[in-house]
Amino acid sequence: MNTNMKKIIVPRAEHGISRSLMSPNGVKVLYKLKEQGFTAYLVGGGVRDLLLGREPKDFDVVTDATPNQLKKLFRNCRLIGRRFRLAHLHYQDEIIEVATFRSAADAPVEEPGEPAPEPEIPESGREGRRHGPRMLKSDDGMVLRDNVFGTPEEDALRRDFTVNALFYNIADFTIIDHAGGIEDLRNGLIRTIGDPLVRFTEDPVRMIRAVRFASMLGFNIEERTEAAIVELSGSINKATPPRLYEEVLKLLLMGAGERTYQMMRHCGLFEPLFPHFDAWLSRESEGFPHARVGKALEWVDERLGGGEQVSAPLLIALMFGEYLEEKVAGFRAAGAPPQQATEMAIAAFAGELAPTVAVPNRVLLAVREILSCQQRFQKTPGRNGRAVVGRAIFADALAYLGFIEKLSPGKRSLAEWWRRFAAEQPAPPAEEAQETAPEAASVEGKGKKKRRRRRRKKPAPAAV
Ligand code: ATP
Ligand code: MG
Repeated sequence: MNTNMKKIIVPRAEHGISRSLMSPNGVKVLYKLKEQGFTAYLVGGGVRDLLLGREPKDFDVVTDATPNQLKKLFRNCRLIGRRFRLAHLHYQDEIIEVATFRSAADAPVEEPGEPAPEPEIPESGREGRRHGPRMLKSDDGMVLRDNVFGTPEEDALRRDFTVNALFYNIADFTIIDHAGGIEDLRNGLIRTIGDPLVRFTEDPVRMIRAVRFASMLGFNIEERTEAAIVELSGSINKATPPRLYEEVLKLLLMGAGERTYQMMRHCGLFEPLFPHFDAWLSRESEGFPHARVGKALEWVDERLGGGEQVSAPLLIALMFGEYLEEKVAGFRAAGAPPQQATEMAIAAFAGELAPTVAVPNRVLLAVREILSCQQRFQKTPGRNGRAVVGRAIFADALAYLGFIEKLSPGKRSLAEWWRRFAAEQPAPPAEEAQETAPEAASVEGKGKKKRRRRRRKKPAPAAV
């Protein structure tokens, strides 16, 4: 790894990060750790985004206090993580994640739905043999488990990309750069720390993360890093299907889904994740490429850009809509009635995805409902129009219809009709709305408490 990289310290006067732009809870945590004699840094996306003048999504802290010490220090602390012990400090509307400096090549790669905490690990990070080896790698170099505490430098160097490894030191307000992140931030580059072939082999999800950060920040992927992705893209499936689902969802719901989708196809990451869909995309339809997926993702980006939410079922229904509709038509042609044909199409789709990107059942059921509602929408209002409007899936199903109509606008908009009809109805009783409620989609992963976005004034870009 970059052992010969010189540590750079940027003094307060030379960077624009101010404590006033940080989460007040995050700042309190940093100060409390410092007062107790610990080293405490803000790290990761928080530092990166503040330096770029973006509003950070969350504030991660790293320290030399061990998880057990953190537990004693903070009453609102919960230890989580099996592969990697982390402290979550719970506040009313946010969670501050505090990790202890770690060494070795590993990532905080939690599976979605973190399991309950294991028994507490010993105070001294360098002991603990009775818990078995702290660091485990598979024969082919994938990191399986790591809980080895380390120095700040080691901690920085085991992170994924140079721009994600910057520390903000609460003790003197400097930025500490062990990996060349400041320069890459200036040049708009996503570069792995160390050899990209090694780093992507350790954790293939980093390849998706590279694409995510590049398209989110409008950066380029550095040449060697990109070449390694192209070379190793086929190994993306070594990550577990539930984790890949979470990553793909994050990727497509960050507001630049269309660009990301093109980048994923370009680097060869899309095909191994969605082999059947990708094969279908490569086959033209009546001489035309399948263009709807790109348009759907653009539409999703527009909505997110306008501050609206897009649920996981709606995203999936939109993205795979044409593909699913073709499947439904196939089952219809073979004699299945409409409802059953939709069920069969979703079941077939679920079977195709299961080995690569495990979309949870509740999400697939909601996608099925979105598609089924489209048939129902054709009758205005028909019998039980109110019941349709009262269903929890109604808003997503209507959004789907709105998108389809936008593709080929006609004189009469059914979506508009249903929107008006819904607006005229009294609010449905709570149970009715609950009845078919697909679980609220969360890109944070099930089981994880959702972090609410803080509304704060957008900071001005800070010079780096
Ligand atoms: P976001 O704005 O999406 O939250 P982030 O950079 O904060 O971006 P997180 O997934 O929240 O990303 O992770 C926090 C930090 O943990 C990263 O900035 C990086 O330093 C480190 N990290 C996360 N995932 C990995 C990984 N797979 N391998 C190595 N380091 C990782
Ligand atoms: Mg983050």
